[in-house]
Amino acid sequence: MPTPFAPLEASLHELLEVLRLASRPPAASRASPQVCPVCLLTARSVERDIRALFAEFVNDPESRTRLRRSRGFCSIHTLLLAELGDALAVAILYSDLTERTRERWQSEVKGKFPFVKRQELIAPCPACAAANETENRYTQALAAGLAREEVWRAVENGPGLCTAHAEATMSAAKPADAARLRELETRHLVLLQAELEEIIRKNDYRFRGEEWGAERDAWLRALHKLRRP
Ligand SMILES: [Zn+2]
Ligand SMILES: [Zn+2]
Repeated sequence: MPTPFAPLEASLHELLEVLRLASRPPAASRASPQVCPVCLLTARSVERDIRALFAEFVNDPESRTRLRRSRGFCSIHTLLLAELGDALAVAILYSDLTERTRERWQSEVKGKFPFVKRQELIAPCPACAAANETENRYTQALAAGLAREEVWRAVENGPGLCTAHAEATMSAAKPADAARLRELETRHLVLLQAELEEIIRKNDYRFRGEEWGAERDAWLRALHKLRRP
């Protein structure tokens, strides 16, 4: 049996906290959006990592090498960096990256744009790499925890997982737990599809006078839920 401080047990504990918050009545959970708990915790973890990078590691040689190897952050995490708004940290990191990029271009100028052909050699975005590791830990923790009834209840009463994390959890879970989760998430998909069809129906001129119900934001929930791995 894992110790209370084993990484998977700690991750499971965090997941249960998020699920419990999400399953409270709407007024109490207003601050916590109804999104996949693994997505939520992964996003928080990545934001924490970037804040730590800004606060403590902008001059750390290892972090700098990682950023040079990846040639920067992906477009999604670039938006996050901009949102966090730390001008000095970004200036330090990107002054180095700008210099490296210029040097690379100048050293490759004799070739026929070889940097375009070597895309596969570029390391992944550091925040994406950290996110992958984090989401793997959470989905494995959840898969291992599904056999426990209290965990299963929390998942059942929670907002559901996005398709990427549902599939990752099913792959890591024991067959009986995976089947149970698949049934639950299939029911979520059936309800979501009905709501999306309701949006389509209410946009028909014949039904335009009808009041909008809970399906109003189903298109946004669909965008969150059906996320490719
Ligand atoms: Zn997710
Ligand atoms: Zn990224």
